[in-house]
Amino acid sequence: MNIYAIQTGTVAIKNKQRIGQGSGFIRQINMLLDHSWTEFLPIYAWLIEHSEGILIVDTGESARVHQADYFPKWHPYFRSSVRMNVSPEQEIGPQLGALGIKPSDVKKVILTHFHTDHAGGLAHFPGSEILVSGEDYRAARSFGGPLAGYLPQHWPGWFAPTSIRFENAALGVFKHTYPVTTAGDVIVIPTPGHTAAHISVLVRHQDCYYLLAGDTTYSEQTLLRRQVDGISPNAHIALRTIDNILDFAKNNPLVYLPTHDPQSAARLKERQTLVAG
Ligand SMILES: [Zn+2]
Repeated sequence: MNIYAIQTGTVAIKNKQRIGQGSGFIRQINMLLDHSWTEFLPIYAWLIEHSEGILIVDTGESARVHQADYFPKWHPYFRSSVRMNVSPEQEIGPQLGALGIKPSDVKKVILTHFHTDHAGGLAHFPGSEILVSGEDYRAARSFGGPLAGYLPQHWPGWFAPTSIRFENAALGVFKHTYPVTTAGDVIVIPTPGHTAAHISVLVRHQDCYYLLAGDTTYSEQTLLRRQVDGISPNAHIALRTIDNILDFAKNNPLVYLPTHDPQSAARLKERQTLVAG
């Protein structure tokens, strides 16, 4: 098995999105009113070359972000609080193609959540089974989905994902898990916080765990500092997830790989584990 980081462009957000400030919905107001930006951060997707088939975790963003009508102009977040750069060759499909991987080679795609910089590359996987959190899927396509920042209008017409049904099979602090592979070395765990039913993918390889963590936190540093981001709907739930990961990392060697951490690719390569607590 091998895991590869695939960078599908960059994104800049407000500092108060990276680290939330205040409580309740005030956190989101503070984020929108913030005038200070992060540096441009990577948008990673992940390729898992597994003997049972190729797996992809998240699909990155599309170069269509540069089209005038991609983001809804009425939406305060897209108007004022996010900037992206994605070239056509940075999309995940062309990058997999450069590695000799055809879309039809990809057995399964797992989405950590439905924000556009994770779901923007779905169009490249028309033949793959797509595994998602059913709760987040329903929220994203609901009446309130566009206001919450989802862009279901850009999902491909064929999109009909499979909702994950977690099993009562505990792995340490994670009481519910879902095995993606028969070997049981790639599993999905619930990591609610950034979205109500956000999920992450835990890969066990050569006595080490790799957590493809989506937006559980924006960086390893904010995980270690127990800093919840500015858009989590419930900061307490997000903090409980952070503590679960820190707890797991105390008992198991864990390489922590969030989507937007500039150090994620290097940690993967160096197999640099989290030193928690
Ligand atoms: Zn997100």
